[in-house]
Amino acid sequence: PSGSEPATKIVINLERLQQLPADKVGPLARYAAAIQSQRGDYNGKVLSIRSEDLRSLAIIYDMTPGELTDQLISWGVLPPEARPSSQ
Ligand code: C2E
Ligand code: C2E
Ligand code: C2E
Repeated sequence: PSGSEPATKIVINLERLQQLPADKVGPLARYAAAIQSQRGDYNGKVLSIRSEDLRSLAIIYDMTPGELTDQLISWGVLPPEARPSSQ
């Protein structure tokens, strides 16, 4: 449903992210690549990012953090457990 709670633990599935079309996930993919570069963390299958980053990404996607959480779960980029209401 809309109005879901935003994810509290954001662990991005990088393999899934690479499978999705760039016109959908381009901004997220660039953001994740920038964080990997800043950390020097290139070898992971997943990338843990700050909850603050979800708020920034939501602005980029013109959604609320809760709506973006739902979108990322539906794309398979976040696991369903990322949503606090399902824990
Ligand atoms: P976890 O947080 O559930 O992470 C499980 C595994 O996912 C990690 O195993 C690692 O292989 C991968 N992973 C998660 N986030 C990232 C990421 O941003 N980059 C990369 N490259 N891999 C990631 P690992 O490293 O053996 O860690 C096992 C557990 O140890 C973690 O479980 C967590 O509970 C703890 N841990 C490891 N590093 C940290 C850390 O920097 N901070 C905290 N608080 N716990 C950590
Ligand atoms: P910074 O914010 O000044 O953080 C410096 C170092 O503190 C990081 O180096 C990391 O070792 C540690 N650190 C800071 N916050 C956390 C945290 O929540 N968990 C853990 N486990 N460690 C933390 P690192 O990883 O080499 O990152 C270098 C710089 O890259 C950071 O400097 C920051 O500017 C940026 N960065 C890295 N990861 C992220 C991220 O997920 N989101 C954002 N917005 N920036 C990030
Ligand atoms: P984590 O390392 O288990 O950290 C959990 C929470 O503890 C972070 O949630 C943040 O609220 C706080 N925290 C940990 N280290 C620091 C720190 O050095 N400075 C500050 N101000 N707070 C800290 P948050 O921000 O949502 O980050 C979630 C996860 O994203 C972290 O889990 C870590 O796995 C990853 N992460 C975030 N920033 C960095 C970073 O700069 N470098 C690396 N390597 N990982 C990061």
